[in-house]
Amino acid sequence: MNRTDGGDRTDVRVDVLVVGAGPAGLALAARLARAGAGRVEVLEREQDPGGMPRHLHHGGFGRPPLPWLRGPEYARRSVRAALAAGAALRTGVTATGWAGPLCLETTGPAGLQRITARAVVLATGARERPRSARLVPGSRPQGVLTTGELFQAVHAYGLPVGRRAVVVGAEPVARHAAATLRQAGTDVVAMVTEHPRAPAVPGIPLLTATTVGELRGRGRPTGMVIHHRDGRMGLLACDTVVFTGDWIPDHELARRGGVPLDPGTRGPCVDASFRTAAPGVFAVGNALHGIERAASAAAEGAAAAAPVLAHLAGAPWPEHGPPLQVRAPLVWVTPNRITGVARRPLLLRSAQAVTAPVVAVTQDGRPLWRRRLPLPASPSRSLHLPPHWTARVDPTGGPVVVTLA
Ligand SMILES: Cc1cc2nc3c(=O)[nH]c(=O)nc-3n(C[C@H](O)[C@H](O)[C@H](O)COP(=O)(O)OP(=O)(O)OC[C@H]3O[C@@H](n4cnc5c(N)ncnc54)[C@H](O)[C@@H]3O)c2cc1C
Repeated sequence: MNRTDGGDRTDVRVDVLVVGAGPAGLALAARLARAGAGRVEVLEREQDPGGMPRHLHHGGFGRPPLPWLRGPEYARRSVRAALAAGAALRTGVTATGWAGPLCLETTGPAGLQRITARAVVLATGARERPRSARLVPGSRPQGVLTTGELFQAVHAYGLPVGRRAVVVGAEPVARHAAATLRQAGTDVVAMVTEHPRAPAVPGIPLLTATTVGELRGRGRPTGMVIHHRDGRMGLLACDTVVFTGDWIPDHELARRGGVPLDPGTRGPCVDASFRTAAPGVFAVGNALHGIERAASAAAEGAAAAAPVLAHLAGAPWPEHGPPLQVRAPLVWVTPNRITGVARRPLLLRSAQAVTAPVVAVTQDGRPLWRRRLPLPASPSRSLHLPPHWTARVDPTGGPVVVTLA
């Protein structure tokens, strides 16, 4: 039952409040609603639910990736599944802050609300850091875009982009950006990456070990100064620049709620059951670690259903447990703390390519696990660590350290 508090906010109560109607939030809401978790409400700040795949018009969604399944259709399927299971979905509603430990302030078509839940799940996805955050000097002409802005311009509004573009980045997202530019009739003159190696896109020059020095041009770019690691400099003539790949978890809401973040992932610090350090608050999907595949975000959402149900049934919130830490060239691991035996693979990301990576896990100098992984490590793809060694972690011991050689 809703009521107003005499102020300007309406009070609402639900059992589970999921913030974000992307693949992770929708998969979790579907599971919970089907399991009879009570009122499961999903909030989405955009006018339409479905998350990032709504804007991604290439194929390759689903598990296994299906070449014919495009993002918008994948998003529609995820929405249908959540609604059919009985979850409530409210769009155009943004969670703006916290009024209490499990109480969110929202703004949307129903006005300002205060929603109290028995469990809150942050499924807010990841966002791109804009160019300003990368400290690239130069004026700020039109024609300088993030990948998200490029997809919006081409797919949502059908806007012309430019004639000659440079894509900064060479990871999978950058390759999608290059394909989108070509679809829009733009010539991609180069892809530029600071990494020493990266897969090239046929027909597009790939400049590795290269950084962006400065953008030239007023009103619209006329060129980009580049620096090669060996000291050479160059100027790429272009009227469009797309910066890609600098994705970080959209952690703003977590931060405002005082939910501790992990220094590596920059997402909420969670255990293997997606529990943050704030009792009753869970986090799933790209909100935890930046961009992974949609099916992987959805799988995390689905896997979080059991711990959320256990919490609703009164299971105690665990003590903090030993933190998981990484050493260079690793940049992050998730989950970020060990509170029991993990049942799903851990995700691990390296800043450098390593052809035959050997991963070792230790606690207080005691080896817990060591193995050569079957796939090379790459800055644009996560490694999967089997979870069984978590059973050997001493819950009263020091940090668990993961290294890669
Ligand atoms: C260029 C590109 C290409 C990709 N290609 C593929 C591919 O081919 N195949 C594949 O499987 N995956 C692909 N992905 C990855 C896939 O899109 C993501 O992994 C997936 O969308 C993550 O799901 P999510 O639910 O964690 O986050 P998102 O999909 O980002 O959803 C999060 C939602 O939360 C909402 N939200 C955030 N904050 C609030 C708030 N405060 N209040 C209310 N709502 C909020 C956002 O509006 C958003 O809709 C691609 C990604 C990119 C960027």
